[in-house]
Amino acid sequence: MPPTAAAESSRAEELRRLLNRAAHAYYVLDAPEMEDPVYDRLYRELLDLEAAHPELVSPDSPTRRVGGAPADGFRTVEHRIPLLSLDNAFSSEELEAWFARLLKVMDRTPEAGEPLPPLPMVGELKIDGNALALSYEQGVLVRAATRGDGERGEEITANVRTIQAVPLRLQLERPPAWVEVRGEAFIPDGTFAAINAEREARGESLFANPRNACAGTLRQLDPGVVASRRLDFFAYTLHLPDDWSPVRADPARPRSQWESLAWLAAAGFRVNPNADLCPDLAAVEAFFTDWETRRAQLPYATDGVVVKLDDLRLQADAGFTQKAPRWAIALKYAAEEAPSKLLRLVAQVGRTGVVTPVAEFEPVPLAGTTVSRATLHNADRLAELDLRAGDTIVVRKAGEIIPEVVRVLSELRTPGATPLQLPPNCPECSSALVREEGEAATRCVNSSCPAILRGALRHWVSKGGLDVDGLGSKLIEQLVDRGLVGSIAGLYRLDAALLASLERMGETSAQKLVAALEASKQQPWHRQLYGLGIHHVGAVNAKALAKAFPSAVALHEAAAEQPEAITAVFGIGGEIAESLRQWFATPANLALLAELQALGISMAAPEGEQGVGGESDGPGGAGHLSGQTFVLTGTLPSLSRSQAQTLIEAAGGKVSGSVSKKTSYVVAGAEAGSKLTKAETLGVAVLDEAGLRALLASGP
Ligand code: NAD
Repeated sequence: MPPTAAAESSRAEELRRLLNRAAHAYYVLDAPEMEDPVYDRLYRELLDLEAAHPELVSPDSPTRRVGGAPADGFRTVEHRIPLLSLDNAFSSEELEAWFARLLKVMDRTPEAGEPLPPLPMVGELKIDGNALALSYEQGVLVRAATRGDGERGEEITANVRTIQAVPLRLQLERPPAWVEVRGEAFIPDGTFAAINAEREARGESLFANPRNACAGTLRQLDPGVVASRRLDFFAYTLHLPDDWSPVRADPARPRSQWESLAWLAAAGFRVNPNADLCPDLAAVEAFFTDWETRRAQLPYATDGVVVKLDDLRLQADAGFTQKAPRWAIALKYAAEEAPSKLLRLVAQVGRTGVVTPVAEFEPVPLAGTTVSRATLHNADRLAELDLRAGDTIVVRKAGEIIPEVVRVLSELRTPGATPLQLPPNCPECSSALVREEGEAATRCVNSSCPAILRGALRHWVSKGGLDVDGLGSKLIEQLVDRGLVGSIAGLYRLDAALLASLERMGETSAQKLVAALEASKQQPWHRQLYGLGIHHVGAVNAKALAKAFPSAVALHEAAAEQPEAITAVFGIGGEIAESLRQWFATPANLALLAELQALGISMAAPEGEQGVGGESDGPGGAGHLSGQTFVLTGTLPSLSRSQAQTLIEAAGGKVSGSVSKKTSYVVAGAEAGSKLTKAETLGVAVLDEAGLRALLASGP
């Protein structure tokens, strides 16, 4: 065992202090101070520290305790059978490790090379509510208690009696002398929203989530208020006296968790229907994956699945740790927030010269990917966060949203840590950075800064721009660093022999790239305009402008002399008109336009289409797919995404980024992701490329 370094010991102590305070706020005050996934990760860090250095374990560690102390105001009762917590797993590896430990305690570890023994398990949804212990005597509900510290909870019988899903009398012919039932009280999402809306109207503080709202409700001193909150309940655990056997009319004594669920349902409890009996670990994982997307459609919150060994005798063999049963584990869904340790702050220069502070931190899994960089937006945000070297930060990434730093856990900061700021000079070209009065952005104003050039090149060849395949960031970096390309026009002067001599390039890829660049010259005018990367001219604005002004010459004239003609275009405002004016007033930009045209890039709509708006204008476009919305996902066999989009829009359809009930079709290719699953859940029609082509061809 390595000796405990002072740093580890003080980190453990800080974590204990922070987590104990958070647990008190969460369990006792029902007002959490931090996000659950952040708590979970810090808790895991403490567990790992304690496992590596058992001498660090102290009796006040949150890892030694279940939940929080029972609150004042209620009578405390001792549970007949302890009501413990669950251990967590955050990945398949952790699930497998749990299973391996379980086999080991049951002395069933297979010999090397032999397969794992099949061991039936029940997969249940992990309802995000509050565990209740219900005690029945002679079939009548006599007591209901919260989990409390696992041994003793708060007696809340009067409140629980208001929950319709909890039977006051068991539906049994001859009930056992006593029955202990455990389950989850919860507040459905709709009710939660209504409760918070009412609280807001009364100027009261809002509940952070349905689970805290439920905990707060169960602890109301007035059962009338509890009744008005319409709590719900799912039963999931059953304990019966050892000597009980049923009369014929009653359900048999269960021998497994699966049979327990059936018994509970027969006795009159609401049991969650979305459970499954899984023959092995692979089936458990399939159950978990299946519910990952489906759970969004449920009217209540779930944060994972609970996996339980099915056979009750084997459960008894496996036993308990101090805090949780060994025979069960909570497998949690990917979190959208997590804490991480800041490694460094870097200043990133974008294609417009804007300098963004970016945090680089220890990699963390978030919303299905591993994240190690997040934006801090600008110098003001950086100052507001008060970021210091070595800070523990909270990072957030939801779905496809760009990761960001939400806040700093300043309690875990090393005293005297240095505050972090943007550097005074550009990290790429060393020229002094400028921040205009009243502007949020800090900029590098050196137009030949290599970072700006790299950004401009990336934008020009991007999917929404000229969509050039085979010209990635690494190659662009080489081209700029070696001085081979000085502007976007320079790309069209590259020859295959030169490209082939670059790192990670071969003759074939060089030739393909030259061909792709040549082909890109035929991209429509609105993409050329977008590709120039003029401030505020994104894909949608570029389309609208390209339709109204069929060439760069026409747009230039309007920008210089008739700004009102520009703002007359639907969706285009004064800020864009001004940005265009400035762009066309810069001689270097006009030289670039001339150069591009000389190289065969028209910077105009084709002759025949001028004046009539050659491009589809997306929503509301005329054509047989008008009014229909498409979502593209995965890789299609022959069409690129932007080609597919152009075809759909040309036929009057609209392409959207996310699937909803209103989506007409999802077009799915190879390795389609969650959008396909969502389409299937919502019953949206799914097409492959052939299907899309047939639909496109079906028009007049
Ligand atoms: P847990 O919520 O991770 O798991 C145990 C609980 O799962 C059980 O007590 C039960 O209530 C529930 N459950 C739901 N469905 C179940 C099913 N089908 N079968 C069995 N149990 C089921 O553990 P915990 O000890 O209650 O609390 C830890 C959780 O509380 C963590 O998620 C943690 O993030 C959160 N917490 C947050 C803070 C904070 O500051 N945000 C502080 C303390 C704890």
